[in-house]
Amino acid sequence: MRRSPWIRRTPPSLRVVTAREPLTSKLEGFGTTIFAEMTALAVETGAINLGQGFPDTDGPAVVLDAAVEAIRSGANQYPPGPGTPELRRAIAAHQARFYDIELDPDTEVLVTTGATEALAGALLGMLDAGDEVVTFEPMFDSYAAGIALAGARVNPVLLAPGEDGAYHFDPDALRAAVTPRTKVLLLNTPHNPTGKVFDAEEMALVAAVAIEHDLIVVTDEVYEHLVFPGATHVPMATLPGMAERTLTISSGGKTFSTTGWKVGWACGPAPLVAATRSAKQFLTYVSGGPFQPAIAAGLGLDDAYFAGLGPAMAAKAERLGAGLRAAGFTVFAPEATYFTTVDIRPLRPDGDGMALCRSLPSLCGVVAVPNQVFYARPEHGRHLVRFACCKQDGVLDEAVERLATLSS
Ligand code: PMP
Ligand code: GLN
Repeated sequence: MRRSPWIRRTPPSLRVVTAREPLTSKLEGFGTTIFAEMTALAVETGAINLGQGFPDTDGPAVVLDAAVEAIRSGANQYPPGPGTPELRRAIAAHQARFYDIELDPDTEVLVTTGATEALAGALLGMLDAGDEVVTFEPMFDSYAAGIALAGARVNPVLLAPGEDGAYHFDPDALRAAVTPRTKVLLLNTPHNPTGKVFDAEEMALVAAVAIEHDLIVVTDEVYEHLVFPGATHVPMATLPGMAERTLTISSGGKTFSTTGWKVGWACGPAPLVAATRSAKQFLTYVSGGPFQPAIAAGLGLDDAYFAGLGPAMAAKAERLGAGLRAAGFTVFAPEATYFTTVDIRPLRPDGDGMALCRSLPSLCGVVAVPNQVFYARPEHGRHLVRFACCKQDGVLDEAVERLATLSS
């Protein structure tokens, strides 16, 4: 194609750049997400990527086929803003089947572009500048960014690994984190990156604080079906007095190994869903059409499918954990999720997880994620590193073999 003579090509180095700082001050310091950075590093170096959490095998064929069929049969234009009625009904039926939570699919369910958009929509739709959000740290990286974009503040409560190898929080620290400006308590269980499942007692404590201070609880339960034998997922909305103040967020990404499809949802009382929808409609307007019937098909799979997910992932976590221990790390065994956190200090006395992750591909051909990026106060996570186990057994075996060379 001939270029117009009026367009002159200017080398990037000579382009005049505005003197204004383009980035909003709200996003100052957020940089590029660690997942993008570490996945790029894996691609560039050919290292095994145990950083970003995504499976390396496809999910159920019926789910994949349903998406193909939807594309072929013309579901390729804007779907309804709140999501297709079929998927909204399937989400409501899922909440009823697994948790006895009754929802009106028309007013109490919203389909979003991944759980990420549900979180952003909830935070942007509910928070005013100066409001405060209480959440546990470490936290999934989009939480701090979503809160910052809303002009709000985060009050973190530390989850610290105890002598027993499990993560705990101090109930007094939770109570102290709530101020008169606190509007939302943002909870993630099962928890990324620690693999912690908040138990019934901890959930009751969080619920009591929310009720006492009349907080809205936004609960991120994307790993709801990746719970290992021995642990039980307690959805916040099932606790007494909580259904009326809880917005529950989840996603098809983990449950059906379709992280790239970005189909998520938010459900709960109509006013909380409506506030989230108000923001969502201006973020993406609607979410990917043909993937919605496919996730609806997945949510309709039989109980055996869902029951098999936790034990299968537990076996992978066990395989990875044994290798990480053999490599010399201190391993905090997860109760759920894709992730295992280790303390690197037995191998790296300087405890610099970021430096270790940046050099790991050249040292031994493996990529991991430094947990410090998940903390509002990074010093608490400086010595911790996260590895993902959602990979084929052969890939995990090769990764741990490589990691074993670190101590030799
Ligand atoms: N919350 C948590 C805790 C996560 O780990 C992730 C990452 N998958 C998300 C939300 C985002 O989910 P989605 O890919 O559906 O946007
Ligand atoms: N949830 C995934 C993780 O924690 C990745 C999601 C993302 O890349 N934003 O690794």
